[in-house]
Amino acid sequence: MNLIHKCLLGLGSLALAACTQPGGGVPDEELRSYYAFAFQDLEQSGGNRSDTRPSDAPISTTLILSAFQDLAFDTFDGQRLILPQRANDPRNVLSRWEDPIRLAFLFGPDITPAQRTRFRKAVADVSRQLRRVTGHSITIAPEGTPFNVTVALLDRKDQRAFGRVIDRESETMRGIGSGIAESDVDTFCFVEPFAKDQEALELGGALVLIKAELPEDFYEICAHEELMHLMGMLNHTDLRPSVLNSDQEFSKITILDDIILAMLYDRRLKSGMSWGEVTPLLPTIASDAVRRLGVGRFVTNTPSTGGT
Ligand SMILES: [Zn+2]
Repeated sequence: MNLIHKCLLGLGSLALAACTQPGGGVPDEELRSYYAFAFQDLEQSGGNRSDTRPSDAPISTTLILSAFQDLAFDTFDGQRLILPQRANDPRNVLSRWEDPIRLAFLFGPDITPAQRTRFRKAVADVSRQLRRVTGHSITIAPEGTPFNVTVALLDRKDQRAFGRVIDRESETMRGIGSGIAESDVDTFCFVEPFAKDQEALELGGALVLIKAELPEDFYEICAHEELMHLMGMLNHTDLRPSVLNSDQEFSKITILDDIILAMLYDRRLKSGMSWGEVTPLLPTIASDAVRRLGVGRFVTNTPSTGGT
């Protein structure tokens, strides 16, 4: 998430550097004050709502299908996060995880124990929600065990050091180091997803980065937004209520988000499917997701599933 959302998301991972302003020299204290001000500003402008079933944003079956299309496919102003492997790939297909997701934390040396504890809890809480909603395995990897997602809390100097290490040593993430090192100060947190293979575009790895200069209240906000992206919802939407709404009105994964996440991990779908293949299946999948989550009373016009 960031203040100039369209900049980061419009260009995606390969072009993070192009989105970067020469803000590398901003002193830490100035950066902290800036983010504290940004947080206040977001709250005062009606953003950061923490309610997840808002009565002023009713959910219909039509809305569910549109939100799924917006977030799982590239239909919203072309602002999809770009998997490096598909930067020049015109295909518009579904991407999700088939392997279990194993998260590992990376903390800068100056991150205090209290910050680490709050950060771990924010990520663990959202992971638990995602596991419940999707049925897909997403857990924190015990230290020293294999993982496929790094969740980092780094300040600007550690971002630079980490960016250099990535470009030097990581095969999957090589080339994005400078984007990490010099990311725009107006980008609060972001995810860099990687496809496992170039054919199906199944997700196989990711880096989630949250900036350590942010007020701690942003840990939860960023965890909700970036982990939802991580699952394969690589886009943003103008529709509400969604944590991926481009106005940043909502700060938590909402009931609408739960439904479309459940749909993405339905066993009838898989990575690499086109919109044309997915479309005829969606009404039934949406209806089943609503029923499975037990949220039918919040949804109008739920379609029949054909009497199963
Ligand atoms: Zn986002």
